[in-house]
Amino acid sequence: MSDNKTHSTPSLDYHFDAEHIWHPYTSMTQALPTFGVVAAKDRQLTLEDGRTLIDGTSSWWACVHGYGHPDILQAMEHQLHQLSHVMFGGITHSPAIELSKKLISMTSDRLTKVFLADSGSIAVEVALKMALQYWQGRQQSQKQHILTVKNGYHGDTFAAMSVCDPQGGMHTMFGDSVTQQIFAPAPQTPFNAPFLENDLANIRQIIEQRHHTIAALIIEPIMQGAGGMRFYSAEYLAGLRSLCDEFNILLILDEIATGFGRTGKLFAYEHANIEADILCLGKALTGGYISLAATLCSDEVAQGISDSPAGVFMHGPTFMGNPLACAAANASLTLIANNQWQAQVDAIETQLKAELNEAIHYEHVKDVRILGAVGVLEMASTLNTAQLQQQFVDLGVWIRPFSNIIYIMPAYTITASELTQLTTAMKQVAASITKTSSGQTFISHG
Ligand SMILES: *Cc1c(COP(=O)(O)O)cnc(C)c1O
Repeated sequence: MSDNKTHSTPSLDYHFDAEHIWHPYTSMTQALPTFGVVAAKDRQLTLEDGRTLIDGTSSWWACVHGYGHPDILQAMEHQLHQLSHVMFGGITHSPAIELSKKLISMTSDRLTKVFLADSGSIAVEVALKMALQYWQGRQQSQKQHILTVKNGYHGDTFAAMSVCDPQGGMHTMFGDSVTQQIFAPAPQTPFNAPFLENDLANIRQIIEQRHHTIAALIIEPIMQGAGGMRFYSAEYLAGLRSLCDEFNILLILDEIATGFGRTGKLFAYEHANIEADILCLGKALTGGYISLAATLCSDEVAQGISDSPAGVFMHGPTFMGNPLACAAANASLTLIANNQWQAQVDAIETQLKAELNEAIHYEHVKDVRILGAVGVLEMASTLNTAQLQQQFVDLGVWIRPFSNIIYIMPAYTITASELTQLTTAMKQVAASITKTSSGQTFISHG
């Protein structure tokens, strides 16, 4: 028998998967359904049964150039054979140097020092640690609290958890093991709306009272992502920068979700014309091909850390500066430069507005929000993710709702007709939702 006839894809062992493998934010005893993916190309995922899905999530907001992009594959293949990994202690290499040069030149002038970590949560841990060590070096070690706003999301490790939304996040699950931080109300003025006079009043009051114990303020600029896909006013963000200046507080901007063009600016802080003291990057950094994150800081922060009792920055993950990941990032950032991301994202925004805005008239749609390459339908109540996931798959798209949010963050390279398939599916599913639909109650980007 000839072997080269039609191959039928071998069936995945879903039973083993459900019995033994954790998936994000799930139970190991009551596993949720999973879909076997065997391949991905451009904006399309191929399921093991041969069906294809248009990806509306770009794999958790990372895969901005689509899957299987030849430039990134080539860069990674080359790097794999040349030097796939080497320790970063006492050793350096050109992928890390090239990437750090790129990041320093892309970001605002103040940011001159780069820490290359392995995931977004670790980039946040590094940023928080930098802030604490900085104030030790400035003889103000009483500054050890972190101020943030509600509805934030900064990752799943312990310090990152401590600055996630206190209700929707994981504070209640871990109680006293999570450091108590200081929370101000979430920003209320929507993006591009007339600034609400009192929006900064609460946080100003907190800062006035407690600034001598506050090391840093951390916030996701312009878009609060996994905490509810909220887009807030650039004026609010600019106001925070002024408050931090006035009261000697470092400003940490977490651009892990927003960085590299997603909100219509290369970095979301550009909407407010401000600079961070410490900046976290991740997700789209490698174009979504492999895990990598970066924390950038100013000369001043680096100097303060050097003046601290330790004299060095106390962090150094095993896979710090991984060359393979840096090579992917270098190729991705070259594409960002060459690919006219601005035109791509603007076109996506225009089309999202034309196709999604009408959903505001649906019975259970509470709000429709669009910014850059992000389209959001906020529903009136919490959704059943597993059930909706199946509906979307049946419609030929990969869209993963969470909490009461149905959203897409597609690849910048998406075609107009692919995008229409996504928005059509969103509207169809949103229209089918009834009041009784319910599901997960805690926030996750799952
Ligand atoms: C996803 C995300 C993180 C965490 O990144 P991981 O790579 O999942 O650890 C942190 N901050 C923001 C804003 C994010 O969207």
